[in-house]
Amino acid sequence: PGKKVLIVYAHQEPKSFNGSLLKIAVEELTKQGCSVTVSDLYAMQFEPRATRNDIVGPLHNSEAFNYGVETWEAYKRGHLSKDLVEEQKKVQEADLLIFQFPLFWFNMPAILKGWVDRVLVQGFAYDLSKIYDGGLLQDKLSLFSFTTGGSKEKYAIRGDIRYLLWPMQHGIMHFCGVRVLEPHICYAPENVSEEKRKEMLAAWTQRLKTLWKEEPIDCSPEWYFK
Ligand code: FAD
Ligand code: ZN
Repeated sequence: PGKKVLIVYAHQEPKSFNGSLLKIAVEELTKQGCSVTVSDLYAMQFEPRATRNDIVGPLHNSEAFNYGVETWEAYKRGHLSKDLVEEQKKVQEADLLIFQFPLFWFNMPAILKGWVDRVLVQGFAYDLSKIYDGGLLQDKLSLFSFTTGGSKEKYAIRGDIRYLLWPMQHGIMHFCGVRVLEPHICYAPENVSEEKRKEMLAAWTQRLKTLWKEEPIDCSPEWYFK
């Protein structure tokens, strides 16, 4: 109770399976007394492109544009665009970040990747040598909750699904100092029976009930590539 949760959600359709997973998380966490904020990226028409428009006013170096340098400088001077400042405020306040999305090309959808590219800027999420366990977003937890097209069996043949989690969990969250909870994966909701879908949704509700008792994973190469 009293915990703050930010759900960054990337699906176009509220009636989708991802939409149902989102609804469950909002309801269950609110019921627990958490305060839940949702960034519904498609509904917000969130801008995924990292461009000069992210800096308000004159550039640090107008001769040659460097996005990383410019956003870092703009962050320090309070000159980032309003949409970024709002998302950073939500991240700053959150105890837990949940990312809810369908897997696109073994990765997150572009709109969500754009959120990562634009919101987690240097100075805010990490800094010179303030990375991984020293990252700037310490004392926060994260959880990647996603759906796939492929079945669990197919993923077992193609290679462990943990390989896909390495860039997201380790390369992004751990890099910024955020601890990582076990991912929550719903395999092939389009291709299973209605009964199985209901089961998967019930399992998510069930997991959320004891979420705050969970220990973060050991986010080291061994966890991914053992
Ligand atoms: P939906 O189609 O919305 O839902 C599935 C079914 O569940 C629907 O019939 C819906 O009506 C039903 N449903 C919704 N809510 C409920 C409820 N409350 N109770 C019961 N039923 C419900 N997959 C991979 O595995 N790997 C990839 O690399 C990959 N790349 C992709 C790239 C692109 C560009 C695209 C478009 C898809 C890709 N996919 C990939 C497939 C994608 O991951 C799946 O289509 C997606 O995860 C399915 O989730 P959804 O929420 O969209 O499902
Ligand atoms: Zn890690």
